[in-house]
Amino acid sequence: MTTYRAPVTDMQFLLRNVFKAEELFATMPGTSEVSDDLIDAIIEEAAKLIEGLIAPINQTGDRQGCRFENGVVTTPEGFKEAFAAWSAGGWAGLTGSVEFGGQGMPKVLSALIEEMAFGANPSFALYTILTTGATLALSQHGSEALKQRFLPKLYAGTWSGTMCLTEPQAGTDLGMINSKAVPNADGRYNVTGTKIFITAGEHDLTENIIHFVLAKLPDAPAGPHGISLFLVPKLLVDESANLTGQKNNVTCGSIEHKMGIKASATCVMNFEDSQGFLVGEPNNGLVTMFTMMNYERLSMGLQGNGLAESSYQIASDYARERLQGRAPTGPQLAEKAADPIIVHPDVRRMLLTMRANIVAGRALSLYAAFQLDIARFHQDAAARNQADQLVALLIPVQKAYCTDRGFESCVLGQQVLGGHGYIAEWGLEQNVRDVRIAQIYEGANGIQALDLMGRKTVRNKGELLDVLVAEMDEFIKSQQSVAAMQPYLKIFAEGKQRLVDTTNAVIKSATDQPDEIGAASYAYMELLGLTLYCFMWQRILAAALVALDAGTGDRSYLESLVKTGEFFLYRLMPRSKSLVEEIAAGAAPLMAMSAEQF
Ligand SMILES: Cc1cc2nc3c(=O)[nH]c(=O)nc-3n(C[C@H](O)[C@H](O)[C@H](O)COP(=O)(O)OP(=O)(O)OC[C@H]3O[C@@H](n4cnc5c(N)ncnc54)[C@H](O)[C@@H]3O)c2cc1C
Repeated sequence: MTTYRAPVTDMQFLLRNVFKAEELFATMPGTSEVSDDLIDAIIEEAAKLIEGLIAPINQTGDRQGCRFENGVVTTPEGFKEAFAAWSAGGWAGLTGSVEFGGQGMPKVLSALIEEMAFGANPSFALYTILTTGATLALSQHGSEALKQRFLPKLYAGTWSGTMCLTEPQAGTDLGMINSKAVPNADGRYNVTGTKIFITAGEHDLTENIIHFVLAKLPDAPAGPHGISLFLVPKLLVDESANLTGQKNNVTCGSIEHKMGIKASATCVMNFEDSQGFLVGEPNNGLVTMFTMMNYERLSMGLQGNGLAESSYQIASDYARERLQGRAPTGPQLAEKAADPIIVHPDVRRMLLTMRANIVAGRALSLYAAFQLDIARFHQDAAARNQADQLVALLIPVQKAYCTDRGFESCVLGQQVLGGHGYIAEWGLEQNVRDVRIAQIYEGANGIQALDLMGRKTVRNKGELLDVLVAEMDEFIKSQQSVAAMQPYLKIFAEGKQRLVDTTNAVIKSATDQPDEIGAASYAYMELLGLTLYCFMWQRILAAALVALDAGTGDRSYLESLVKTGEFFLYRLMPRSKSLVEEIAAGAAPLMAMSAEQF
């Protein structure tokens, strides 16, 4: 049976050859010491921990799940030890501010490590991701005193974090939350309310849990502009960051029984006059949260990629071993009763679809992570601004498209194994269940598509897309003299033009017809996702051709990249044409039926 192997070769190729990470990091003051050698050392160290300690408790974690008894949540066997090793290795504070005990590393690095963790054990990864998100909100919006008190122990993994947004009546529409925060004379707040579906709301991995809770102040305006963000510890903490020994009226009411990620505790959390601290400005909680949401959404795309990679490893190993039928061109293993199923074109279709989307999804995630790093570390305000614009455009697509492709890959992997893919033993059945949630949480994919189409495209008349298109054009120009790239560039340039024309058409039709935005949004997100994957493949193909010409690197690996890239261009990219037709059909066929007719 296949056990998870961190895709270190792919990751190193993307960082060194495609994105030239060392060169970029050398230009920014906070990252100038991040060399290729340091990156290799960090990735290899993380891979060792993830393969050796975290992957082996994935299946057992799924079988055992979390246990809930009298308000106490117990994680499955091995989780405590693995989390302790994770914390001891300094992984919890990898990207954290150095000033408070973090290691100040760029997001690009942690993105790769997150992908590995999600691929090896998504439930475990979630305990770590939520803490990273919480530290981000605090380090960017918290007061100095709050940072001093809470960040070092969150970075050390002694405490963990949560994001408490959802309530029974308020999911996507957070303007409808009921949780309240009443100010005290001492500048603190009493927070009261019930939150549902809270990942890692209660568990036994850390000595304290620091909740980031959305609630409304008494005089708050109605709707999304009346929400504030509060830091609410499970156990009270004094000013020197020591536990006072007092509880804070934060209790777990129950845990959910769900389809997948069974070792991740999804909790109902009750806050009853719990002591809280305001983070950021009053009534600005959603904006404050958005800082961490860009990072959290990137992580969800990485969950999709990670589990797709794990599924690909299982399926490609299996397809080389499983003997069924004969190759259409004649027996390949004449001495055996049948050929391995990898000889069949349809099995290759499934494996290549997986691989082509995984590599492009990983590259797109890194591209977005680089923009987050430029926005954080670059000295030049114009470069930071451009990176911010790209982040705004890329994150909803990366989240939705990578998670959709991730789910598709897990299902394709299951199909490659036939009936064995449906059986628990092989792991694909668990991957299908575990990856599914990534399309739903952190804003359902339909909402990501709406954000992309409405706020990020129509509202600013395509201004953000112009920034991306300028990057694409610059790349195309840089390759004009490379003969081998010309057939690839032709497909890319046509796809890019289809995207630009479709964007202009939607902006025009949406001006006086409000339903057109929602009607176009999902197919538009897919069109942009597909075009971005095509852009990533152009960059990968260009880098692979350079390495092949120079005779550097593993030839067979580089050739496999070229063949996978060609599969993407000739077999997957044509879908952009049907997406354009789908978008052009507009809202009328969607809105024609009355609610009763459904
Ligand atoms: C396992 C798990 C873990 C979670 N972890 C957390 C957590 O840690 N913290 C937290 O706060 N929450 C968490 N959530 C909640 C999660 O983020 C929400 O479930 C999600 O945001 C969707 O909200 P909802 O379930 O209320 O669906 P709804 O908002 O009711 O949406 C239902 C459907 O309607 C669509 N829809 C809604 N509004 C619109 C619109 N305006 N236009 C078009 N379509 C629309 C949605 O896309 C969706 O398909 C978790 C959920 C699960 C299942």
